[in-house]
Amino acid sequence: MMIRFLLITASAIAVPNVAPASDQAPQIDRPRAKPGTATIDLVDVTTFESRWLVDIDYATERNFTGKVLYPVNRCLLRRAVTDQLLRAQKYLDEHHSEYVFMLKDCYRPMHVQQIMWEAVKGTPQQSYVANPNTRTGSIHNYGAAVDLTLARGGKEVDMGTPYDSFEKLAQPRHEQRFRKEGQLTLEQLTHRLILRDAMVKGGGFSIINNEWWHFDAMPTSQIRKKFEKLDVSLDLPISKTSN
Ligand SMILES: [Zn+2]
Repeated sequence: MMIRFLLITASAIAVPNVAPASDQAPQIDRPRAKPGTATIDLVDVTTFESRWLVDIDYATERNFTGKVLYPVNRCLLRRAVTDQLLRAQKYLDEHHSEYVFMLKDCYRPMHVQQIMWEAVKGTPQQSYVANPNTRTGSIHNYGAAVDLTLARGGKEVDMGTPYDSFEKLAQPRHEQRFRKEGQLTLEQLTHRLILRDAMVKGGGFSIINNEWWHFDAMPTSQIRKKFEKLDVSLDLPISKTSN
């Protein structure tokens, strides 16, 4: 079977300078891969599961920055993370077969992370966006985090808030209280729990406590060991490789 892989030689990758933006900042020695010996195993996930819907607000002006941040509406993830997502969809098929995933954000280039950070820095929304100048940055920059929701009959289901909402109502840590107070309906909460169940039990992802849509593929320490932050463009050509 022919499967489309994105294979990029290390020599072709421009590694961004992630040092703090200060003239006094010391130069950071970045690891160098031997040209031609390493590949970045980012893949376009829809080539593995054609039912998945891709609806990336960052490829439009409909996002908190009001700017088009991505050149294409596309979801790239690490190959191993894509396998986890496939297992999560399988779990969904077995337990709640009327739903499929709708992908909202996947791999995010470092330079986009910087633009997002600048937009929220010093505002109450600061905690929603990872500072790219810290050691870890955002797990999206590694291609190891995914933002997603559920779709039924081709349409996004009601999760109580839109994707990327800065409202408290979007935070899993408060949702039992919001349910009791009637601000989340039983249907909205059930949708969140179905998504979480598939991602955590089926795919082995972990949740974060302030965004219902965000899932990390594995603990941060493992991600840092296994992968590196990337700044490759989302519209990179994909070469065909048989599998
Ligand atoms: Zn996210």
